[in-house]
Amino acid sequence: MATTDQDDQLVTPWEVTAASQKGVDYDKLIKKFGSTKIEDSLIERIARLTGKPAHHLMRRGIIFSHRDVGLILDAYEKGKPFFLYTGRGPSSEAMHLGHLIPFVFTKYLQDVFDVPLVIQMTDDEKFLWKDMSVEEARRLASENAKDIIAFGFDKEKTSSPDFYKTILRVEKCVTVNQVKGIFGFNDSDCIGKISFPAIQAAPSFSCSFPQIFGGKKDIACLIPCAIDQDPYFRMTRDVAPRLGYPKPALLHSTFLPALQGAMTKMSASEASTSIYLTDSAEDIRDKINKYAYSGGQSTVEEHRRVGGNVDVDVSYQYLTFFLEDDEKLAKIEKDYSSGAMLTGDLKKELISVVQQVVAEHQQRRQQVTEQMVQEFMTPRKLKYSY
Ligand code: ATP
Ligand code: MG
Repeated sequence: MATTDQDDQLVTPWEVTAASQKGVDYDKLIKKFGSTKIEDSLIERIARLTGKPAHHLMRRGIIFSHRDVGLILDAYEKGKPFFLYTGRGPSSEAMHLGHLIPFVFTKYLQDVFDVPLVIQMTDDEKFLWKDMSVEEARRLASENAKDIIAFGFDKEKTSSPDFYKTILRVEKCVTVNQVKGIFGFNDSDCIGKISFPAIQAAPSFSCSFPQIFGGKKDIACLIPCAIDQDPYFRMTRDVAPRLGYPKPALLHSTFLPALQGAMTKMSASEASTSIYLTDSAEDIRDKINKYAYSGGQSTVEEHRRVGGNVDVDVSYQYLTFFLEDDEKLAKIEKDYSSGAMLTGDLKKELISVVQQVVAEHQQRRQQVTEQMVQEFMTPRKLKYSY
C-alpha cells in the first residue's frame, strides 16, 4: 500500500525509504503485508528435497519472506510440476547490482528444481511510468534481455495471444477502487497504469502459455521477487480462485541498500547510489571508496577501541549478498566488529568481490548475440511435456 507507516518506512513498487541506517524493518513489513517469515525449517526442507545446499541468500535471510511455498514443495514432493515467473522493468540501459539479486536466486531455483521459467519484460510499464518513447522502452528491454541471458538461464519466453486473454480475464475481475487501494493510483493517473497490474499478474497462470503447458491451467507458479512487488501478487492471489487458477506462491528478497546507506535502496534513477553491471573495475573501486556508507569510527584509534558496526556498514551488507564463502564472511564480521579490521580493508575486500562479479558478467554478456535474444524472446515449447 502506498501509505507511510507511523515509523516512516515506505515500501512500494516505486519507492523504498527506511527510518534508520539499519534499513527497512523487514519483520514489520511482513506483518503489514501479511506474508510469512522464512523459518530455518523451510530452508532445510528445500535443501533436503533438492539434495543441494540451500542458497546463501536464503541462509543469510536475504530471501526472508514467502507466501505458500510449502504448497509448492508439497506438490513437488508428489512429482507435480510447477513453474517460475520473474520479471524486469527495463528502466535503464545498464542494470545495477540490486537488479541482479532476483535473477541470481531464480537461476539457482531453476537449476535445483529443473522447472520452466518465464521472464516478463515490462517495457510497457516503463513507457507508462517514465518519460520514455515506446521505441526506447523496447530497445532497453532488448538490451536488458542480454544481461538476463548472460545470467545463464536455460529458457525464456514473452507474451502471446493466449497471454492477452489472461490479461482480459484479470482486468474484468479488478475494479478501479481496488487498484487505487492497493497501488495508490489517483484520478490523474493515465488509464494504462490502472490496467498495468493485470499485465504483471497474467504470467502467474499457466494458461497464458499454452505452447509450454499444453493448455493446462492448473500448473502452480512460484515467483521470486523483491518484497516491493508483493502488492501486484496480493492482487493476483485475490483474483486467482475466482478465475479457477491456483494462487501463485512467492519468495521475497530484501533490498540491496544504496551505496550511501540502507535508508534507501540502490536505484537506477539515482546514479550515485548504484554500481552498474557496465561499470569498469576503476568505477567500482572509486564508487565504493567514495560513497559506501561506513559503520566505522571517525578515527583509527577510536575504531580499534570501539570496533565497527556491521548492521549499518554498506560494504559489509554487500558482502552478505555477494561473498559466498561463509567462513570468510564470519571472520570479516568478527574482525570488523572488534576493530581489528579497518574500514579501508573492508572496502578493499568488497571492491575485489564486486569487481569479479561484474567482470564475469561482462564476459558472459559479450557472448550474447542478437540472434540469441531473438531465440529467447520467441514463444515456443520448452523441453518439458505436460
Ligand atoms: P528506478 O530508480 O528507475 O525506479 P530501480 O533501480 O528502482 O529504478 P526498477 O526497474 O524500478 O529499478 O526495479 C524493478 C524491480 O527491481 C524493483 O521493483 C525491485 O523489485 C527490484 N529492485 C530494484 N532495485 C533493487 C535493489 N536495490 N535491491 C533489490 N531489488 C531491487
Ligand atoms: Mg524503482
